[in-house]
Amino acid sequence: MTETLVHVENLTKHFPITKGIVIERVVGAVRAVDGISFDIQKGETLGLVGESGCGKTTAGRTLLGLYPATSGKTIIDTHSVHDAKGSELMHIRRKAQMIFQDPYASLNPRWTVNAIVSEPLRVHKLITNQQERDARVKDLLELVGLNARHINRFPHEFSGGQRQRIGIARALASDPLFIVCDEPISALDVSIQAQVVNLLEKLQDQLSLTYLFVAHDLSMVRHICDRVAVMYLGVIVEIAERNDLYETPLHPYTQALLSAVPVPDPRKERARKRTILVGDVPSPINPPSGCRFHPRCPVAVEKCKTHVPEWREAAPQHWVACHLVNG
Ligand code: SF4
Repeated sequence: MTETLVHVENLTKHFPITKGIVIERVVGAVRAVDGISFDIQKGETLGLVGESGCGKTTAGRTLLGLYPATSGKTIIDTHSVHDAKGSELMHIRRKAQMIFQDPYASLNPRWTVNAIVSEPLRVHKLITNQQERDARVKDLLELVGLNARHINRFPHEFSGGQRQRIGIARALASDPLFIVCDEPISALDVSIQAQVVNLLEKLQDQLSLTYLFVAHDLSMVRHICDRVAVMYLGVIVEIAERNDLYETPLHPYTQALLSAVPVPDPRKERARKRTILVGDVPSPINPPSGCRFHPRCPVAVEKCKTHVPEWREAAPQHWVACHLVNG
């Protein structure tokens, strides 16, 4: 039986746009995340995919409480993230961690690996004895495939893949239950990407972790995720079990994204239909009316311009928001 670890309900994050020097007035908002809802089960990996600027990174940060939510709620392991204060907030910070996209920027260049990885242990007062802390850091380094003897080295002495492993070790230090992996491989060489993905999978099995895997590389998402949510301009347009989504995508945006993913079989590659998306993603300051995808949708009808499509279960566990897909 599955058990929900993360519950996200109507989560919204708007960044206000202000004008005026003496008296600041709010004149608009960047609607980066505009009412997203999903659950993640214990031990599951949910992929969150979409083009750059669709709001997926903001969604990951907001649901962890790194950005205050404009509205909506996130429950992680029975705790309400956006209402938590004091010790409850510290507990959430301990149990819900993030692995960042850029291993170059996310590590303090003046700190040793020991200082970086032990930071959560110090902040959460998990291990106060220095020797025990050093021993735990060495264990964590070995767990992520790094040499424990390099504990006193600095980030610039490591390769990109090794730096990402340091970031993973830091995220694991506080024994998290849930980790948001924010494009953890997109800044790495292709040859290193698979190694980091394999490591994340191994750690998930070993430590019973639950992941939200934010990415734009759809082929890697298929490899690591159990289910996939597709995001467009601040909203989720489709969620399904991964094989279901990749074999039977229902939303025209998902179909377009998948049509750009190369297929290894040359015969299938030649036979498949490509959908080229025209234009750029519109501004989240003033998103299009009706279905937000309508200015770029190759099959849009008149209704799409005025009516927001209903979120419906078109097939078992396969949810989509499109007027042309019947439930
Ligand atoms: Fe395209 Fe209309 Fe469906 Fe939106 S609702 S994806 S515009 S067909």
